[in-house]
Amino acid sequence: MKLYLSGLLAAALSVTTFTQASAQEVNVYSYRQPFLIKPMFDAFTEQTGIKVNTVFAKKGLVERMKSEGANSPADLVFTVDIGRLDAVLAAGLTQAVTNDVLDDKIPAEFRDPNGHWFGLTSRARIIVASKDRVAADEVNSYEDLASPAMQGRICTRSGKHGYMVALIASVIANSDVETTRTWLSGVKDNLARKPQGNDRAQVKAIKEGECDVAIINSYYMGAMMTNEEQAPWADAVRIIFPNQADRGTHMNISGMSLTASAPNKENAIKLMEYLAGDKAQRMYAEQNHEYPANPTVAWSALVESWGGFKKDVTPLSEIAKHRTTAAKMVDEVGYDG
Ligand code: FE
Repeated sequence: MKLYLSGLLAAALSVTTFTQASAQEVNVYSYRQPFLIKPMFDAFTEQTGIKVNTVFAKKGLVERMKSEGANSPADLVFTVDIGRLDAVLAAGLTQAVTNDVLDDKIPAEFRDPNGHWFGLTSRARIIVASKDRVAADEVNSYEDLASPAMQGRICTRSGKHGYMVALIASVIANSDVETTRTWLSGVKDNLARKPQGNDRAQVKAIKEGECDVAIINSYYMGAMMTNEEQAPWADAVRIIFPNQADRGTHMNISGMSLTASAPNKENAIKLMEYLAGDKAQRMYAEQNHEYPANPTVAWSALVESWGGFKKDVTPLSEIAKHRTTAAKMVDEVGYDG
């Protein structure tokens, strides 16, 4: 009998231990690939003892959260592009975070003014130009892409892609709708081919002589440079940080949101703070050749080799307001042909 009781007691104790251990966790839904985020999560767990459970998917996480409703296990959502961060907010799936650490480390242009999303890494929407066929100083701004000298020389991906929509929205935010429409129409008239493929496919097309100039996200240069097959594509082009003489280069972000129903809110905020810190910022940015959102954190050696530049600091929350108009404009000017 005594043995039996102590057995029960042991079982009860171990259940308690398990419950306590499993309470020290945080659940992440991520559109970002595991290789990008796992190293930081592991470092966080090592420092805090809080386990990070990750669900990774290429699409459908927002729909999944909607159907899970208040019972969703998700505490944090990780995604890329202001359009997707804004979509999670618009779906009512986020909650505001008021936090001095986050507000101190993440610049205002890279976070929602009400704390519904925070940028963690940033990327420049750069222009790349053929080293052989484009003279230095021939292209200095997004506006130059609409000039008659660019006739039949530009390649881009679909104008409807989030990266393009954000760029167009940033032009609206810095000028007005009519100016932007004239510009976009001019870029469309200068296209060498119907928009197609991803950002890297445009660089390949420059290498193959199909076009001379393209618009891509900066980290793809890093991805190509470190890929045996694609390194020659990257080597065919020169990086141009647009609009250095005026508003600066358009930036987009990857970021995170605290979910409306977060069951492990306290741990989630600890993870958010950790990710804004020096070590995680450096790890995260370096992993994908991006810029840390936190401006005090050093860039990777490769990214540093591209040189410093002036960023467009128009808040992404402002740019997001023009996304619908920008997306409509893509159709209105027949950008995708
Ligand atoms: Fe991308």
